[in-house]
Amino acid sequence: MPKQNWTRAEILDIYNKPLMDLMYEAASVHRKHHDPNTVQVSTLLSIKTGGCPEDCGYCPQAARYHTDIEGNDLMEVSHVKAQALRAKASGSSRLCMGAAWRNVKDGEDFEKVLDMVRTVNSLDMEVCCTLGMVTENQAKRLAEAGLYAYNHNLDSSEEYYKEVISTRGYQDRLDTIDNVRKTNVTVCSGGIIGMGERIEDRADMLVQLSNLNPQPESTPINALVPVEGTPLEDQQTVEIWEMVRMIATTRIVMPKTQVRLSAGRTQMSQEGQAMCFFVGANSIFAGDKLLTTPNPDVNEDMALFKALGLKPQKAFEKGDKPVSKPKAQTEHQPLGEKPKWSRPGHKIERNEAAKQKAKAAKL
Ligand code: SF4
Repeated sequence: MPKQNWTRAEILDIYNKPLMDLMYEAASVHRKHHDPNTVQVSTLLSIKTGGCPEDCGYCPQAARYHTDIEGNDLMEVSHVKAQALRAKASGSSRLCMGAAWRNVKDGEDFEKVLDMVRTVNSLDMEVCCTLGMVTENQAKRLAEAGLYAYNHNLDSSEEYYKEVISTRGYQDRLDTIDNVRKTNVTVCSGGIIGMGERIEDRADMLVQLSNLNPQPESTPINALVPVEGTPLEDQQTVEIWEMVRMIATTRIVMPKTQVRLSAGRTQMSQEGQAMCFFVGANSIFAGDKLLTTPNPDVNEDMALFKALGLKPQKAFEKGDKPVSKPKAQTEHQPLGEKPKWSRPGHKIERNEAAKQKAKAAKL
């Protein structure tokens, strides 16, 4: 069983090792638990873009910031099916559907998402959703529809989270993960580096993730892609060495988890990405867009796989295909809940400044 009581000090000791020692150790752990030449490929599809009421400092989809995102209402199920087939044909074993919502609300849109889950599951692909906060009942309904994974990132440490987001609290994230854990849906949770956090915050985030019981089945590690108009637009891009250290440390503290090299790959060289695979990254997002930020072209990824001798992981290689119940046979019905997710509402200076800038731009 993976160790469950990591401390900040222990994780910092790992993160700060001489790089060659760190890479060697992480690669050794990786080889013990995974086939080092297999990488899981997911396609991330934005099923509802923009207009989000939250204030995540990194996100161009927050309605309050002025970015050049083109918003869209919830996609049609037939469109999702077509995109899923395209993703499958280009080597993806998982479709991750993202909606720019604060939380899931019972109603027509959620019913449509449940239909999307049933449809993609029937194509023999792993289905993942990232829809914001969910209640236990909603998680159970997603599970009954055939959801394989639910993504809900912790983003950073609890302390630094308050410097990035003011419209919800860290505990909401943990509660949502807990709700998902009450079903057989797997948990995907990770974070973003390069938002101005300290190394200690990165370590604290890994303390939280690695001490979840069980540890997440997958953990995306994102490098911030600074987008004009967002509060974090002026952040420096993350150096490859930081990314390698973060991936390697994640691999060591969460040996069985699929570690996903996520946003920020366009900022990395192919050699940098190869180092990330060597130290334990065994999943990527494919497709030219990650929700709204740029991502390498699928053909470029396949050329890299060929050069490195990597092969894409097959669907359901690490878990059984969930049974998808038709709507008429589902046990869990909408409860019409009105959950009280928190709204701390503290002022984050750079978020306020970006909001003011957006207001001025609209005048
Ligand atoms: S990250 Fe998600 S919740 Fe936050 S603003 Fe963007 S779409 Fe909304």
